[in-house]
Amino acid sequence: MRRRTRIQARGSLCVAPGAGPPTPADVGSALGAAAPGPAPGARRLVPFPFPAYGAPMVEVTGVLQKEAWDRDVMPPVERVRPGLWSIPVPIPDNPLRYVLVYAFELDDGVAIVDAGWNTDDAWAALNNGLEEAGGSMSDVRAVLVTHIHPDHYGLAGRVREESGAWIGLHPDDAEMLQARYIDTDNLLARMREFLQDAGVPATKLPDLNFASMMIRGQVMMAEPDVLFEDGRKVDVPGWDLQTVWTPGHSPGHVCFYSDRHRLLLSGDHVLPRITPNIGVHTQQFPNPLGEYLESLLKVHTLDVEEVLPAHEYRFANLQGRLDEIIAHHADRLVEIERLIAEHPGATAWDISVSLTWSRPWHEIADFMQRAAVGETLAHIVLLENHQRLRREGSVPSRFYPAEAG
Ligand SMILES: [Zn+2]
Ligand SMILES: [Zn+2]
Repeated sequence: MRRRTRIQARGSLCVAPGAGPPTPADVGSALGAAAPGPAPGARRLVPFPFPAYGAPMVEVTGVLQKEAWDRDVMPPVERVRPGLWSIPVPIPDNPLRYVLVYAFELDDGVAIVDAGWNTDDAWAALNNGLEEAGGSMSDVRAVLVTHIHPDHYGLAGRVREESGAWIGLHPDDAEMLQARYIDTDNLLARMREFLQDAGVPATKLPDLNFASMMIRGQVMMAEPDVLFEDGRKVDVPGWDLQTVWTPGHSPGHVCFYSDRHRLLLSGDHVLPRITPNIGVHTQQFPNPLGEYLESLLKVHTLDVEEVLPAHEYRFANLQGRLDEIIAHHADRLVEIERLIAEHPGATAWDISVSLTWSRPWHEIADFMQRAAVGETLAHIVLLENHQRLRREGSVPSRFYPAEAG
């Protein structure tokens, strides 16, 4: 019997206390409700506005992981189920600390979910972890990547080189690989335009624009061998893993679900303590927060006993955590709508600087400031799609309450 503890989960970078989350029924009915229809360009209706009720709790099942988190040390390699292992792989100089790689034992080797950053420390930790689990790097037959970010995808190519494993990724993330990691000039130019339109001051532009380029070295470019379409059964014999496409955090983010084991490998889609960055940027769907909220509802109905996330620690009560995340974004939408009402004509940068963050704005690193602007815009776009705001002009775009002249 696994030990369980209950803790109150909290947001991280974007923390906004406030109203509790909606019930699943509320969300479901809001989805189908005759809201003021989406603006041109909106993909679908998303739940908005959100009704409120009391906050649920996250139920920690990865007790050793949580204890290690609290002591700021690496958690152990653990057997999560017979034949399924959790291997922490460090992320250098990053508050996430590590990515949890999951290793499924197969008759002829092992399949891993995510791989870690392309650094020597991460490589060593992955090798050691596989050995602790009774295998080795040369046993790896498959690398199932939840999404394109370097902490998940960075080492996939090196694993394939060493073991001959196949790599799987969703087509919407696979499509972005070249632009993101190889032909970056065009991406940088578009990012600059995006940041200018968001109202980033000229003095900050170069730093914010180049902020992500330093992590390119932590990815080995590798085209996938298999594309994970939504609903696709994953070829890991002995395990009933199904792909659940959950766009939002990245366009091609996927979770893996085992109906038989009632497990959800949630990647970055659902984490126990923090909310993943959902941001508008040059490699995103136009309304990423709308996509994300839809994707939260998509996993809401799954029968899940335990969630195996890619960061932090394992947990139960998936539905409660989903409601909490939805409530967090609802609070954020309310805060942004209020700020724009108070400061009509504000830019996305203006709003970002004024919002409540987990630390003062000037202490937030450049790459996080850029992520924060993207996150603010994701909320603005959702409000715009629901005709709560309107946009005027460009470079920069300015935002006004929908009803104001
Ligand atoms: Zn990510
Ligand atoms: Zn991650």
